[in-house]
Amino acid sequence: LATTRIDKLLSSMGYGSRADIARMARAGAITMDAVKVLDAASRVPITPDLPLRFTIDGQALDPLPGMVILLNKPVGVTCSHNDSGPLVYELLPHRWRRRDPVLSTVGRLDRQTSGLLLLTDDGNLLHRIISPRRRIKKIYRVNLARPLAGSEGTIFASGDLMLRGETKPLAPADLTVVSETEVLLSITEGRYHQVRRMFAAIGNHVEHLKRERLGGLSLPADLAPGQWTQLNKSETDSVF
Ligand code: URA
Repeated sequence: LATTRIDKLLSSMGYGSRADIARMARAGAITMDAVKVLDAASRVPITPDLPLRFTIDGQALDPLPGMVILLNKPVGVTCSHNDSGPLVYELLPHRWRRRDPVLSTVGRLDRQTSGLLLLTDDGNLLHRIISPRRRIKKIYRVNLARPLAGSEGTIFASGDLMLRGETKPLAPADLTVVSETEVLLSITEGRYHQVRRMFAAIGNHVEHLKRERLGGLSLPADLAPGQWTQLNKSETDSVF
């Protein structure tokens, strides 16, 4: 079983430098199995139950590396590490911004788009989800400025629609009409501003855009904008 030094693990999770962790340990702020860990250089086996066995300042340990977070992204925050902000990362515990491996968004939603956004520090998982080859379905609820003309579903399903400035037509997309100005749109690609540009290409305009589904994973109805939840393995697998 792989083991790790406690100071190294906690430092990689953003709790401070190794010297900080050593000081916290000496001060009695770290416990394992309800016993104070005085020597931060001691080693522990890396097992999934570590967050249940450790406390830091009386608080449960953060998720170990390999975490997947589902955020209900509000309008007005950016999926970037270094934009002028506000950033989606500011909705998560501050310490997480110092994690190594770093936590990143799985693809991006525009600043003005809300809804289902995954974040992970698992690079393999991230690439599996955003890989164009996998054609994972993304379903958006779209509110339009103008009533539907009636031909939108056929045009989007055709696989012939070309976006401005591009040379390859869009893959077929599936439109479900909710009302004259509201639709659900299912796409398998992730081109820049894709949904907004699809409606612009046919003379309409997207007023509100919200992602509700990614593969087999839905945005939970009880997760308010700005709230997040950690996904377990089977929830994460449901994306595929
Ligand atoms: N399409 C868009 O135009 N914006 C998004 O954020 C996602 C899909």
